[in-house]
Amino acid sequence: MSKLPQKNPPEPHSTILQQQAMLKVVSEHHPSRLNHFKRAYEGNSLRAAITAKCNECTSCDTAAIRECSGTACPLIPYRPYRPKTEGKEGCHE
Ligand code: SF4
Repeated sequence: MSKLPQKNPPEPHSTILQQQAMLKVVSEHHPSRLNHFKRAYEGNSLRAAITAKCNECTSCDTAAIRECSGTACPLIPYRPYRPKTEGKEGCHE
């Protein structure tokens, strides 16, 4: 009997500790963003992962995410809170 690959293999212990630390910081300072991080860490939502990454990158500064440019970051066309004039790549949340 062959073993099927797991959809979300277990994270290494150090990753779990880092995620728990991030969840603690977000819950204390930016609780409205907590669900993005939780859903991202569950591994079931690319949209939540992108939103969480942008929030992590900017310390949850919505304006900084909206205005983000001038970097080579491949997430720019997919970041949340983009001005509607920027086009339709990605999704708004
Ligand atoms: S798109 Fe901008 S805010 Fe989002 S991760 Fe990349 S550099 Fe950071």
